[in-house]
Amino acid sequence: MAKSPEQEHPKKAFGWAARDTSGVLSPFKFSRRATGEEDVTFKVLYCGVCHSDLHMTTNDWGMSIYPLVPGHEMVGEVIEVGSKVKKVKVGDSVGVGCVVGACHSCENCTNDLEIYCPDMILTYSTVYHDGTITYGGYSDTMVANERYIIRFPENVPLDASAPLLCAGITVYSPLKYFGFAEVGKHIGVVGLGGLGHLAVKFAKAFGAKVTVISTSISKKEEALEHLGADSFLLSRDQEQVQAAKSTMDGILDTVSASHPILPLIELLKTNGKLVLLGAPEKPLELPVFPLLMGRKTVAGSATGGMKEIQEMVDFAAKHNITADTELIPMEYVNTAMERLAKGDVRYRFVIDIGNTLAATKP
Ligand code: NAP
Ligand code: ZN
Ligand code: ZN
Repeated sequence: MAKSPEQEHPKKAFGWAARDTSGVLSPFKFSRRATGEEDVTFKVLYCGVCHSDLHMTTNDWGMSIYPLVPGHEMVGEVIEVGSKVKKVKVGDSVGVGCVVGACHSCENCTNDLEIYCPDMILTYSTVYHDGTITYGGYSDTMVANERYIIRFPENVPLDASAPLLCAGITVYSPLKYFGFAEVGKHIGVVGLGGLGHLAVKFAKAFGAKVTVISTSISKKEEALEHLGADSFLLSRDQEQVQAAKSTMDGILDTVSASHPILPLIELLKTNGKLVLLGAPEKPLELPVFPLLMGRKTVAGSATGGMKEIQEMVDFAAKHNITADTELIPMEYVNTAMERLAKGDVRYRFVIDIGNTLAATKP
């Protein structure tokens, strides 16, 4: 008979888990493997709350395994390293993002694109090499192979840097890959949430002109005055959208729910590219004619490879890019999820694991 999550590994661990599709999270005792020779074990201090955590706790994508400990934007302090580990030492600030394993031999892995490996192992709710289920960062400790460990420079605020590990790389990677990271390019960012607000910051750091395309007029002032966007389009205002037609080189769409993409395609110039980053549970409708008439591209992109995540974290440190966060105690997480579902967050919830998780132990 399979061992229980609390007994399958030697090290005790504690976190919060969803037990079913209600998505409600509650305290959960489980265990972590011993530090292997290529492993790094760290104490989790902060963990961002990604909208993907919400999709997964409620099984929107039909792939959730319960009990499910979410969290793939975790940062903390190294407490133990295996004998072969070269990247980090005890006391260093580190983090883990969306991926904790891959085959390391396929074409994608060889090209530092572990995220696209057919055997890629997600940080939570996935079967690991040893047959056990992976558990995420809404927990006190983490163990990962050093390939999946990201180093944080000493001077960066860890709480506000945690969201770089998913939200940050998910916008940085396509900005670079699709040729948007250039001075003077006009980039649209659809949805001003966790991903969207970091997209504005990275695109501005690359010298692009940025237009936020949002359903929330309440975010206009912040987008322009605080986040540094150049303009703001209220997506339901036909006149505004009409006036901006054929002006954008690229659009990053971070919307988490089904929405029409025709108006976005129309915002693109000839040869423009619409890159879908949000992961709605239902398919979107793809209008073909507007693509033909303008040689436009609709593409997708998932986070980024480990090498690129490190590059992005170092770039963010150099350009003082961090997330705007609402730091919350562990017991607030269910309320945070309800607010996230309504787009009510400025702009990323980060759980203060180090200071508030232990107090919730039964
Ligand atoms: P978030 O903070 O909730 O932001 C999403 C934003 O989308 C909202 O703030 C809202 O912005 C807009 N929005 C929400 N519902 C909408 C609707 N029905 N119609 C139009 N706009 C709507 O979420 P997030 O953490 O940034 O994640 C966004 C999506 O990306 C999620 O689906 C997540 O699973 C996915 N994701 C994908 C990857 C990847 O690898 N590709 C990585 C991480 C996350 P406004 O108020 O400005 O309209
Ligand atoms: Zn995420
Ligand atoms: Zn591979």
